[in-house]
Amino acid sequence: MLSTNNKELLDVPIKDFIISSEKVAHVQSGNSAEHALLVLTRTGYSAIPVLDIKYRLQGLLSSKMITEAILGLERIEYDRLPDIKVDDIMQKEVAYLKVTDTFKRALDLVINHAFLCVIDEEGTFAGIMTRRVILKQLKKYIYQSEG
Ligand code: AMP
Repeated sequence: MLSTNNKELLDVPIKDFIISSEKVAHVQSGNSAEHALLVLTRTGYSAIPVLDIKYRLQGLLSSKMITEAILGLERIEYDRLPDIKVDDIMQKEVAYLKVTDTFKRALDLVINHAFLCVIDEEGTFAGIMTRRVILKQLKKYIYQSEG
């Protein structure tokens, strides 16, 4: 009963579900950890993409990575924040999707990631796909199949 619709959903290109790059908060690799902490705190996101000046994906940065970088033996050394570059503390190995990927690949990857960066044919950052968006689509399809 569910199989036809599920198969259809799995084959759908992710293109329509992407949160486009202009709506995504990000930092640049040359930015300071102080600037990045401001962006993360103000937006309330747990992690954000790190891009270069040509909008290519360089990595991911979370507040945990920043806190770990300034963790002293007995105190958190906030005064070091302006001197630390995002590039030195970000996670460089990141799972990502291509705009041409299908829902199935996104579903496989969001099991371990709250969101995934999406790259276009030229290797430029196109936006992100979140676990929330994927779950919403999945819910819609499952409910339709039941009806
Ligand atoms: P959500 O599904 O909205 O709870 O988002 C999950 C995670 O995806 C957030 O904690 C962020 O790390 C990331 N995220 C979602 N929306 C954005 C956005 N507009 N800009 C940057 N990161 C985002």
